[in-house]
Amino acid sequence: MVRERKIGPGDQEDDAEELPRSQDSDPDTGSPLKNQRDPQQNATTDKTLGIGSTRSENDAVLRPKRIDEMIGQREVMEVLKIAIDAANKREDPLGHILLDGPPGLGKTTFAVCIPQELGVHVEMASGPSLKAPKEILPYLTNLQRRSVLFIDEIHRLPKPVEEFLYTAMEDFRVDIVLGEGVNARTLNLKLQPFTLIGATTRAGMLSGPLRDRFHIRQHLSYYNEDDLVKILERNAEKLRVEISRDATKEIARRSRGTPRVANGRLLWVRDYAMSKADGRVNHKLTQSALEMLGIDDRGLDRQDRKYLETISRVFQGGPAGLEAIAHTMGVSSDTLEDEVEPFLLRSEMIIRTQRGRIVTPLGLKIGGSSL
Ligand code: ADP
Repeated sequence: MVRERKIGPGDQEDDAEELPRSQDSDPDTGSPLKNQRDPQQNATTDKTLGIGSTRSENDAVLRPKRIDEMIGQREVMEVLKIAIDAANKREDPLGHILLDGPPGLGKTTFAVCIPQELGVHVEMASGPSLKAPKEILPYLTNLQRRSVLFIDEIHRLPKPVEEFLYTAMEDFRVDIVLGEGVNARTLNLKLQPFTLIGATTRAGMLSGPLRDRFHIRQHLSYYNEDDLVKILERNAEKLRVEISRDATKEIARRSRGTPRVANGRLLWVRDYAMSKADGRVNHKLTQSALEMLGIDDRGLDRQDRKYLETISRVFQGGPAGLEAIAHTMGVSSDTLEDEVEPFLLRSEMIIRTQRGRIVTPLGLKIGGSSL
């Protein structure tokens, strides 16, 4: 028999005490720290740096802290500013937000900046690390009124965790089953009204019920060169690097429309200029530095070209299945799908069909020439 017990707000603390607690609290305010639970968990060594830095280290240094410091993504920015403004005026929580787009375009940055605009704290989690409902519970119970829970790679949440989130998102409550068999009882736990920000590189993999629970859904697209130049100029200033305008433009042009890639390449060029010259970055040094990493004129790196070459040569232009390409290249299909293909698709170097990937004449020109 399952006994249901409703608890009011006054009871909540006691019951919540028995539940696992989230990360450490800020010693001054008692609020949970703004850091991700395990910041290294998602840290990936950036192949564009080649210098052992991790993405999370570089991202943390260069990431804007306020929406006004963010550059580009104007349409998304306008929508979010209006929603934030209205939520602030009503003093209500902001509606749940889903951000999708390829890696490195600013999803996490928005998730860091939005809470600043709301004047609330943020809890940061990642889909693959939340293996069971009990693992997301501490995050939920730590949330205060209007605060934000950010879940990166939300498409990788296991189904039971996703379903557990439904009532949390809709009614700000969760049902927890305690005990087993005849002794089992359901605890109905009220949560503070909060905002969930979900980020995904694969909007298509999100289930309908989860997607529908987001009030605002925005797609982040690749940045144009002018915006990347602005980002690079600002970051060069932050890093106190003296860089010429044509060098900044060169990095922007070769950064695949992606701020994270641009930042990684700026850091590499900075190191190169420091090691080979007096630290000042000019156009010539930038070209040599990028060439040394195998980054070509279009910003494609060795892995991008290997991908095009594999379809062109091994699969005679395609169609080729993703798994088969990944096996041939010796990389994971996730890496190809998340990090390599989106830009090649956008640049019309490949197309995706039901029968597999096909290289276009432009892709063939590049893939064929790297044979
Ligand atoms: P994602 O979460 O989409 O993978 P991030 O938000 O981590 O991408 O962005 C990677 C890095 O790119 C950030 O640390 C930040 O330095 C830079 N960045 C992203 N978007 C912007 C932006 N709109 N303006 C300035 N810098 C940005």
